[in-house]
Amino acid sequence: MPAASSNPAAFDPTVLAQLACPACLGDLRLKEARLVCAGCGRAYPIVDGIPVLIVERAAVEDPRMSGKLL
Ligand SMILES: [Zn+2]
Repeated sequence: MPAASSNPAAFDPTVLAQLACPACLGDLRLKEARLVCAGCGRAYPIVDGIPVLIVERAAVEDPRMSGKLL
């Protein structure tokens, strides 16, 4: 059982089913230490095991999207 720590990978993946992308409400996938939206490609950081679902804090993962947004 993972203890709460500064390890970003300590995020519980089962919580993913209850989360959605705040930008497009798409499904989120755990990728490395980030949550990547399957809909718009935004990647949300996980800080201290807590996903930061803030559009302004997200990086755009999908190269098709970069250069079009922002
Ligand atoms: Zn999205």
